[in-house]
Amino acid sequence: MNIHEYQAKQVLKGFGAPVASGVAITAASEAEAAAKQLPGPLYVVKSQIHAGGRGKGKFKELGADAKGGVRLARTIEEVVANAQDMLGNTLVTAQTGDAGKQVNRLYIEDGADIDKELYLSLLVDRSVGRVAFVVSTEGGMDIEAVAHDTPEKIVTVAIDPATGVTPADAEQIADAYGLTGIGREDGLKLFPILYKAFVEKDMALLEVNPLIVMTDGRLRVLDAKVSFDGNALFRHDDMKALRDISEEDAKEIEASKYDLAYVALDGDIGCMVNGAGLAMATMDIIKLYGKEPANFLDVGGGANKEKVTAAFKIITADPNVKGILVNIFGGIMRCDVIAEGVVAAVRDVGLQVPLVVRLEGTNVELGKKILNESGLAITAADDLDDAAQKIVAAVK
Ligand code: ADP
Ligand code: MG
Repeated sequence: MNIHEYQAKQVLKGFGAPVASGVAITAASEAEAAAKQLPGPLYVVKSQIHAGGRGKGKFKELGADAKGGVRLARTIEEVVANAQDMLGNTLVTAQTGDAGKQVNRLYIEDGADIDKELYLSLLVDRSVGRVAFVVSTEGGMDIEAVAHDTPEKIVTVAIDPATGVTPADAEQIADAYGLTGIGREDGLKLFPILYKAFVEKDMALLEVNPLIVMTDGRLRVLDAKVSFDGNALFRHDDMKALRDISEEDAKEIEASKYDLAYVALDGDIGCMVNGAGLAMATMDIIKLYGKEPANFLDVGGGANKEKVTAAFKIITADPNVKGILVNIFGGIMRCDVIAEGVVAAVRDVGLQVPLVVRLEGTNVELGKKILNESGLAITAADDLDDAAQKIVAAVK
């Protein structure tokens, strides 16, 4: 689960991290009052969407010369004018895809006098099984280019879970940044704070880009992106309350109601599979035969007819889907239950695109019989290879 920048900053502030003061608004009429709560004379108007790259983003409705999704303002009037210009429009950034995201919320923030922009993130480094800091002196809006062109400018410091951030770890990070004086003191305090927030709140990612050194030498968290580990959200009701479902994929929300593991993707072959491993293999083999999956969908081991029907409806409701591949291995799950679910769903929503079904396992003969006798245009497949080739051919 992702949250907005202003929420992430609120969370980090609770742990003692230095963030600017700011006010979130959802209507331009609130902009003046929001700005008046800040010291000035520099303000920043920041689009709140669940995607990065906002500064360099472009609004669809505004001309190519219009400013991006993060704007400096030097007067309260400018704050108001920018809020009117931005709210309700669609921001396209390197991370949103071409469709962009509608800006329904702005964060009006105190402007900082920036001396340096640094990069910091915390993530779970699976290669060492530890939470790691990833840091670079080259922070700001182009970290992807830094990682690509000059990877030696990115330093990783993995943290031992038994000790947390030791003074030596903090010094190592401060050295990587070349911090001195008061900025170094701020950093030595900040790094353990960020680690604590990450671990206590079960974050999957915490990215501060940029972490800035201000002209007075102090550090400040200027941007913050936080994702939580969905499997641990049950023990963080306070974080769950920060969820903004208007930012999420409608199909994924629908799937979560039925406890289906569903991730929308960009391709055109809809997949219904049981078991995450088989779902991954199915996606791989579709790619192998030259097409892209439209989704990842694991209906789980104990799916009933209702769940299968819901899953099928979610897939068919996606206008990008040009063909559907059902690939089920009936272990705990019985093939006849899947077949009944597929037939019921097709009867319910109709079938506008080719459907290939590969069943294997418990009650497979009964499952095939149900499909064959349904009178529906379903192509049966014998194995994974056969199934992938058939659906790719049908879509092409
Ligand atoms: P994004 O990463 O989505 O582009 P950021 O929050 O990182 O958004 O903002 C982009 C850039 O805008 C920053 O790198 C920084 O230069 C500038 N900026 C953002 N917030 C402030 C602020 N409060 N004061 C001054 N400059 C800011
Ligand atoms: Mg940023």
